[in-house]
Amino acid sequence: MIKTVFDEKLNLLNEIPAGASIGIIACADCAAAFKTADTRRIEQVKKIFGGRNETLFTLSVNSPCDRRVLAQFAAAVRGFDKADCYIILACEAGRRSAAEYIAQRRKSGEDFKIISPVKTVSYVSLDCSGVSHEACVFCGECVRSSSAAAACPVAACPINKKDGPCQSRANDFCVIEGFESRRCSWLY
Ligand code: SF4
Ligand code: SF4
Repeated sequence: MIKTVFDEKLNLLNEIPAGASIGIIACADCAAAFKTADTRRIEQVKKIFGGRNETLFTLSVNSPCDRRVLAQFAAAVRGFDKADCYIILACEAGRRSAAEYIAQRRKSGEDFKIISPVKTVSYVSLDCSGVSHEACVFCGECVRSSSAAAACPVAACPINKKDGPCQSRANDFCVIEGFESRRCSWLY
């Protein structure tokens, strides 16, 4: 799954002018699971605009990162092409997919804005208790091709170290406070 966080620092009121109409596209899969696009979050975003901006539609869709799915759901939404601003509650893949789809649908020369208060953090697996474990933190310098480790050592390391195990180790366990009982991710 893709882990996302809501950007609480982004002031949406600064981004969208008063009176501009809004359309909200929310991912009902990963982003909803991480509460950046669930029903509560959608209501929170709508409430920010209150009587200041009209919300033309809210589209909650499974995997908007798949444009075929997004297109199927969006086709039935009234006012989809009329929004002045689209707020995308999804990971970077969902945002890109939605942005491309909207651009494709809108007539050339039409003015509209696309904004997302959601940040993509990492690629995670969820265990049976629902606890997430980082699988990739998008470090930008992938070592996977040269690593024989079962899981990415960078993502599994508490400080996301990219250049091998800490030399200050006295044993095979992690040197970081709070993680001493965990084997160094680079030694799997
Ligand atoms: S090294 Fe690990 S964290 Fe970095 S890009 Fe590759 S899989 Fe992702
Ligand atoms: S000892 Fe801990 S902090 Fe250092 S590389 Fe290994 S997992 Fe990362």
